[in-house]
Amino acid sequence: MQPIKHVVIAGGGTAGWIAASLLNKVLGKVINVTLIESSSIGTVGVGEATIPPIMQLNNALGINEQQFINATNATIKLGIEFENWKTPLHSYMHAFGTLGKNFPFCDFYNFWLKGQAQGNKDDFWDFSLNYQAAKYNKFAPINTIPNTSLPGLSYAYHFDASLYAEFLKHLATERGVKHLDATISEVKQCPSSGDVQSLILDNGSSISGDLFIDCTGLRALLIEQTLNTGFVDWSHYLPCDSAIAVQTASNNELKPYTRSIAHSAGWQWQIPLQHRMGNGLVYASRHLSDEQAKQLLLENLPAEPITEPRLIKFKTGRRVKQWHKNVVAVGLSSGFLEPLESTSIHLIQSTVTRLIKLFPHNGISDALVNVFNQQSITEIEHIRDFIILHYKLTERTDSPFWRQCQQMSIPDSLKNKIELFKQTGKLIREDDELFAEVAWQQVMIGQGLIPDDYGALADSLTDEQLTELFNNLKTLINSTVGQLPNHAVFLSSLKPS
Ligand SMILES: Cc1cc2nc3c(=O)[nH]c(=O)nc-3n(C[C@H](O)[C@H](O)[C@H](O)COP(=O)(O)OP(=O)(O)OC[C@H]3O[C@@H](n4cnc5c(N)ncnc54)[C@H](O)[C@@H]3O)c2cc1C
Repeated sequence: MQPIKHVVIAGGGTAGWIAASLLNKVLGKVINVTLIESSSIGTVGVGEATIPPIMQLNNALGINEQQFINATNATIKLGIEFENWKTPLHSYMHAFGTLGKNFPFCDFYNFWLKGQAQGNKDDFWDFSLNYQAAKYNKFAPINTIPNTSLPGLSYAYHFDASLYAEFLKHLATERGVKHLDATISEVKQCPSSGDVQSLILDNGSSISGDLFIDCTGLRALLIEQTLNTGFVDWSHYLPCDSAIAVQTASNNELKPYTRSIAHSAGWQWQIPLQHRMGNGLVYASRHLSDEQAKQLLLENLPAEPITEPRLIKFKTGRRVKQWHKNVVAVGLSSGFLEPLESTSIHLIQSTVTRLIKLFPHNGISDALVNVFNQQSITEIEHIRDFIILHYKLTERTDSPFWRQCQQMSIPDSLKNKIELFKQTGKLIREDDELFAEVAWQQVMIGQGLIPDDYGALADSLTDEQLTELFNNLKTLINSTVGQLPNHAVFLSSLKPS
């Protein structure tokens, strides 16, 4: 058991710099952190949409929101709109935050389901403050709906991935992280234990450490190329294995949400930033060639491309062990789930948080590594199920890809969740599952999975009370949205005068 005093991070993309800045911020008094990145290799260059827990990361790092938004050309994200997923021309949103008003032991959707059963025509998203603000391009940070205890807007950001890494690099190096720009040409292992001992750089120097964080992206230089840790393949459930990314000029309409537009063999993302838009197509190469995918994307861009389209190949799944010997994989090196629900940056944040909580100050023990790995598996499997849900519930039969998604077998964990919801209207959030019930409700209902039953407590309201509840909520939401500034106006108000 060797005390861990020196942590070496291999790779300086989003994963490397989140790991460096958070480890340094929390443990900086007891460990040293060195980060090695190779400007000649570069980063993956995508990963620009986030989810609300990023606020906790920014708060933990002591980041000022205004500075952060300006430095990364960020916009606000209130949710993700899924277009053509259920059927062509249909759309729904996974809006962040709550929906309606939850009662003790009876979430709002039960009341909505009861209303629907009685012929009420209100849309589920009429009761989402986030959705209504998103559709009217409105935003200001509000904690509650004025004069009520109902929650205000829940939000995340879209940002420029390279500016974000620069922002974190500045923060981390100012606070003491040692930064080296060099290419790792060899990884030296201890002949007896197999632990990584040092990284040999192309400038001839050797960097030794006690614990190594593999943030080398899809290359997985330490965890896979060196330690041969192994991979659990999930491409059966999530058949997309390729992406083409391209940036376009801004189209002036700064939507405060991500668009996910389904096509014949995958889906297209549109991520609005202040200075440009991030676009891409995620697709299954079995059903669409790279050239066809490129054409499809270029034909469906919202504005002129300003970069060359870039092809990225990936395999969906996870490393058998995210922590193996004295190497912890963070970011793309640890596995990959497609960016449908913008979860990768969150997984970086939660992995580093887990590492800090379980940090092996006095040496690496098997018990510690096992608990770390088990928690990591549980977390990513929950997210995997949530992403598969979008594909599985499609009603599209217009292409072999969608027919395959509809017919594929799914993990039992997801099958049980779908059956429970369909038969009883109940949804159970397990352990520390990332996505709350309200997220599952929106995707399930949005994709047309309407339960056969609703919670009996919804019957505690009379028909008149139910109508009054719906009308009051809609009035409150609409008047709140009416008073919010335009998203673009809000962002300009943050610029230094
Ligand atoms: C198509 C696509 C879209 C995505 N969209 C989203 C999204 O919207 N939201 C989200 O949360 N996530 C998204 N992701 C995931 C997100 O991009 C990554 O999680 C994030 O960028 C972290 O990447 P990384 O730092 O692990 O790897 P990279 O960015 O690839 O960085 C790897 C680093 O390792 C260094 N390196 C590699 N080899 C060596 C070597 N030999 N020596 C020295 N340095 C080396 C490189 O220089 C680089 O600094 C997306 C991913 C893909 C593929």
